[in-house]
Parts: sequence; structure tokens; C-alpha cells
Amino acid sequence: VIQVKGLGKAYGAHVVLKDISTEISRSEVVVVIGPSGSGKSTFLRCLNLLEEPNKGDILFEGKSLMDKSTKITEIRAEMGMVFQSFNLFPHMKVIDNIMIAPIRVRGWAPDKARAKGMELLAKVGLAEKADAYPASLSGGQSQRVAIARALAMEPKVMLFDEPTSALDPEMVGEVLGVMKELAAEGMTMVIVTHEMGFAREVGDRVLFMEGGVVVEEGVPKQLFERPSHERTKSFLSKVL
Ligand code: ATP
Ligand code: MG
Repeated sequence: VIQVKGLGKAYGAHVVLKDISTEISRSEVVVVIGPSGSGKSTFLRCLNLLEEPNKGDILFEGKSLMDKSTKITEIRAEMGMVFQSFNLFPHMKVIDNIMIAPIRVRGWAPDKARAKGMELLAKVGLAEKADAYPASLSGGQSQRVAIARALAMEPKVMLFDEPTSALDPEMVGEVLGVMKELAAEGMTMVIVTHEMGFAREVGDRVLFMEGGVVVEEGVPKQLFERPSHERTKSFLSKVL
């Protein structure tokens, strides 16, 4: 679904991503790990052009994102993104938070968007919160609403940037549970996380990034149990 070819990104003279190449296949769950500042978020943000790459190319379903004729809004509509901070609209009820993008961007009738929104709320276990306001939700509930909101656009890919990092420990499980279910349903996902247990259990492939490069990638079992690079070993010894 996504091909990344020689991707590079710099902020002025500060090079953050250096020559990253990888492919993400349909229904694949790719987990990105690495130390703070290694470029994980920047990589994710380049995939849906929240950041503009300086070098290389990214293809989504064979179409270059760098191509002048590619419409960024159309690409973004196909990639749901969930951040560490949930960014729900505080003045809107939960159901309205979920309905707004499909109505505005996809042109759905409100009834259709509401039905889809209720279905998704049930899926994330929050059907009874449809008419609640975001301020009344716990962190775990807010993040599950944020996931439902992203799914309402029926994206082809879901990007997650440390979705559980801002949560109290007892709420991490409910969010990871929703993500695990999505993975089992065949959603294509790219997930930046520090949850190594989840990476190991749910990831099809793990990318270890450091200093703006993918140092090593592989199936979780191999990467976690038999990393081939010293830098991967050293990172894992600190986080496992
Ligand atoms: P963390 O685990 O802390 O989230 P990360 O791996 O996601 O780290 P990035 O956020 O991608 O790392 O940042 C990589 C580098 O790019 C860092 O040195 C950061 O300071 C720098 N950087 C990120 N965004 C910008 C920006 N908008 N302007 C300038 N420098 C930036
Ligand atoms: Mg980050």
C-alpha cells in the first residue's frame, strides 16, 4: 500500500530522516520503535504529508505523494491518524466529533454519518457516551473516541503516534485492545509505540530507528530475541 523510497527530511541544517526505504503491505502491522529524537514521529508525519519530505519519494497505492497532481486532502482522507494527545473538539458531543469529517470531507448525509458513528462507538465499547462531552471522558475513553473518529472516514491505513503514552497505566490496556482488534480485522497500521509487549504480540514487522535511519527491521521475534545490530541490542537492553 505504501512504498517509501530514500526518504529524507531536514529542518534547516538539522537532518532528521536519512534515506529511509521500506514498504508497508496491505493488512500489515508495522511497529516503529527507537529512542527519543530518532525521527519516529517525523517519519509517520511524512507518510500523510503533515511534514513535507525534502528527498526521496512516498507512493500510496502506486501514486507519488510528491506528484503535483496528487491531492493531499484525498491522501489524508485515506490515512487515519491518532496522536498521543487526543485532540477531540471540546465543544462538540462525542458523536458529533466522530460525524464531522465524514460529513465535511466525504459528503455523507448526517444520518449515514451518525449510524456509522454509533457503530464505531459500539466497537470501541463507548456506545453510551455518544452524547457526552469530551471533558467528561477519561484518557482511555478519549483515545478510544479518537480512534473511532479516525475510523469514521473508512481509511485504508491507520497511523498511530504513541497512542498510549499520555494515559494512566490502567487505561493503556483498553486502547491497545481496540488496536489489537483492528489488526485482527486486517487494518493496515503503522504504530509508533514504547509498548514492547504489544509490538511483539501484534506487530508483523518492527522497525528500529535511531539517528534518522532504520537501523534494523524484522519480524518481532527475530528483532527482539536476536537483534543483529549493536545499537538495537543496546536500545532493547534499556527498554525490555
Ligand atoms: P520522541 O520519541 O521523543 O517522540 P521521535 O523519534 O518521534 O522522538 P521526532 O519527533 O521525529 O523524534 O524528532 C526528530 C528530531 O527532529 C528531533 O531532534 C527534533 O528535535 C527534531 N524536530 C522535530 N520536529 C521539528 C520541527 N518542527 N522543527 C525543527 N526540528 C524538529
Ligand atoms: Mg515522537
